[in-house]
Amino acid sequence: MRGLISLTCLLAGWLLLFSHSARGENRPMNPWEENPHYALAWKASQQAVEKLGRGKDGTLLVLTNAGYAKAGGLDSTAALEAITEVTGCSPGKGNLWVIHSALDQPLYFFFFSRRSGDSFYAETDEAAIRADGKSSFQEILSRETSRLFRHAVLKNISLANLSSAPEETEREIKKRAHGRNWASLAALAHLWILDLPVELVRAVQFHDHICPGVLSGYYLARFLSAQFPLTGDQRYFFIASPSYCKDDALQVLFNQTVGKRGMAVLPLSGEDQAGLLPEARDAAGIFFRYDPKTGKGKGAVIGFAWGRLRQDSGPGKDKLFPFLDSLKQILWMVDRRNQYDRYVYFIKTFDLLPGEVPQSYIRAGINPWEKLGLWDKNEKAKKP
Ligand SMILES: [Zn+2]
Repeated sequence: MRGLISLTCLLAGWLLLFSHSARGENRPMNPWEENPHYALAWKASQQAVEKLGRGKDGTLLVLTNAGYAKAGGLDSTAALEAITEVTGCSPGKGNLWVIHSALDQPLYFFFFSRRSGDSFYAETDEAAIRADGKSSFQEILSRETSRLFRHAVLKNISLANLSSAPEETEREIKKRAHGRNWASLAALAHLWILDLPVELVRAVQFHDHICPGVLSGYYLARFLSAQFPLTGDQRYFFIASPSYCKDDALQVLFNQTVGKRGMAVLPLSGEDQAGLLPEARDAAGIFFRYDPKTGKGKGAVIGFAWGRLRQDSGPGKDKLFPFLDSLKQILWMVDRRNQYDRYVYFIKTFDLLPGEVPQSYIRAGINPWEKLGLWDKNEKAKKP
């Protein structure tokens, strides 16, 4: 009897061991497959490939906030792997751009074919997915698109097509018919066609959209590198005043971040702007290069001639078609990027005085514009 029990125990042990190892073999090849974001990316990519073709020949672009968005508290980085597996697009090929976004934003995928101008946008509906509980990879793949994505939009976004019915294009964008991100992603797709320098792509990814402001930051960076370069052990320090989109480009391109105290920010209200002397009204910021060891350095107030740019590029301040006119201006700015010094210029250069550091210009209670003699005291005194 005792022998029979030991034999049974031995058999049970083997069975347990066998079933355990069998389960091990049956585990998905890729553990990310258990992540719903991986399955969602797979589904969206599959749909895109059906509609637009694969990206192996370099004609497909994918834009996504995967890796940033953390809907439901779940990391979405795995979605990038699914996109590459299905479409063939990857960051290394320059046709998978990860766009900065807040953690609580919905995960999205935007696919664009440069060959046809067709695009497919899918924005996940996290609430619907969560309501259905934990779903397997296969189960998510078999679901209707409308049960996974809040927006699933197929649209030709070639400039010719968007411009053929401009009122309709503007109306759709204004009422956010395709979701909050669609218009800025469509603009980014147009940028990709132009084969941008990689540093400009990085600036745009961080800024999360393309606009004339961020492009002016790229122009400024080119100007600084060419006409205000560092030598020896010098470092930069930037005062972003007035602050606008350009400062995101400057932070990325020089790694002069606010957190690392490479940049300080001083916004100017409309009233403050009126306090600047006329020659400083187009100021884009105050830039310093200095050697922390010797304490010597130079400062430069640099301007951006927006009036001249608007004159050259066409649509002025009052745009008839806000999206289309902006897009045309953006494309124009990208195209003319080597002529940055037609728009960026020195307003004033100065030496740091003995004992001064760049930070002396942006301490509590100090107005750098006044210290630089570019503040119209009378203008301010007239204000109530
Ligand atoms: Zn912007």
